[in-house]
Amino acid sequence: MLDTCKRQLTYLRISLTDRCNLRCRYCMPAEGVAKCSHGDILSYEEIERLVRIFAGLGVRKVRLTGGEPLVRPGAVKLATRLRAIEGIEELAITTNGVLLGKYARALAAAGVNGVNMSLDTLREAAFARISRRSGLAGVRAGLQAAIEAGIPRIKINVVTIRGLNEEDIVPLAKLAEREAIDVRYIELMPIGVAREAGLRGVPPQEVRQRLEAAFGRLHPAMKGALEGPASLYHIAGFRGRIGFIRALEHSFCASCNRLRLTAEGFLKLCLASPKGIDLRALLRRGADDEELREAILEAVRHKPRAHDFAGRGAEDSRAMYEVGG
Ligand code: SAM
Ligand code: SF4
Repeated sequence: MLDTCKRQLTYLRISLTDRCNLRCRYCMPAEGVAKCSHGDILSYEEIERLVRIFAGLGVRKVRLTGGEPLVRPGAVKLATRLRAIEGIEELAITTNGVLLGKYARALAAAGVNGVNMSLDTLREAAFARISRRSGLAGVRAGLQAAIEAGIPRIKINVVTIRGLNEEDIVPLAKLAEREAIDVRYIELMPIGVAREAGLRGVPPQEVRQRLEAAFGRLHPAMKGALEGPASLYHIAGFRGRIGFIRALEHSFCASCNRLRLTAEGFLKLCLASPKGIDLRALLRRGADDEELREAILEAVRHKPRAHDFAGRGAEDSRAMYEVGG
């Protein structure tokens, strides 16, 4: 499946739910979050049917995200079913890690080959300040469980925020020293609650300088075909790699291979744009597979050439926890 910029769309990110057991300041409001009702979100049967159609159109990688995907009952069973779909070569999950201790072994058995775990700090007080909940020890146990379960690709996602977790930048990198996991620093995106709260990110260049001051030079690393937008580096003596996701640059738009499906079944064409198509409406009015395929192919023709976080275009009213990052 190609868009009009000749980008191959091979990667589908699926939000299983807009609910979450944390309330990260840059993602969700502290309270008053309107939740989708059970009937609003796609059923697992609907998701499975859509993934079959997407796989037929060339999607090779699926990521389950949220909200927090592991709070939706049956997420592991869904993973098993999606992994069995012909053409799906890679199934990954993005999680805050709170429930990973409980589910890591089952996810590994389901054939999940990648876990991205969000972890912004190694200090309990900062964890509580950022996520507005306690439970850092459980999250760290979840990471350990994922390693012990033998999940092949484990990545830590760190959103760097001025005044909240600068002092964690270096200690978090050390997780990649001891284990073969990637630690990736994500530039804060100034959208939704992050913008309203006036949060400011720490620029990737500054994060890199802090790491080089602590560990010496970062050496560019080779990337695999399905590895996404991070620029990756080695540090001498480290088993894992260090990555930077420069969310505010356009450098990865030209090779963007992603589509996003919200929990309510809206197919989003770009993180920063409201463009897309309501697949739930088509599914529930009885569209057959061919009709769905045609609708998807028509929609992807309108995938934006590049994102517009600078704010000249129409911004999507959906929040990060509704889209899944
Ligand atoms: N709950 C899961 C988690 O936290 O990993 C999955 C959903 S979360 C919305 C997906 C990713 O989006 C997380 O890595 C989170 O740090 C990131 N994220 C949320 N809001 C962000 C923002 N304003 N800027 C940059 N990244 C953000
Ligand atoms: Fe929940 Fe993930 Fe958003 Fe934090 S970043 S509030 S864990 S969805």
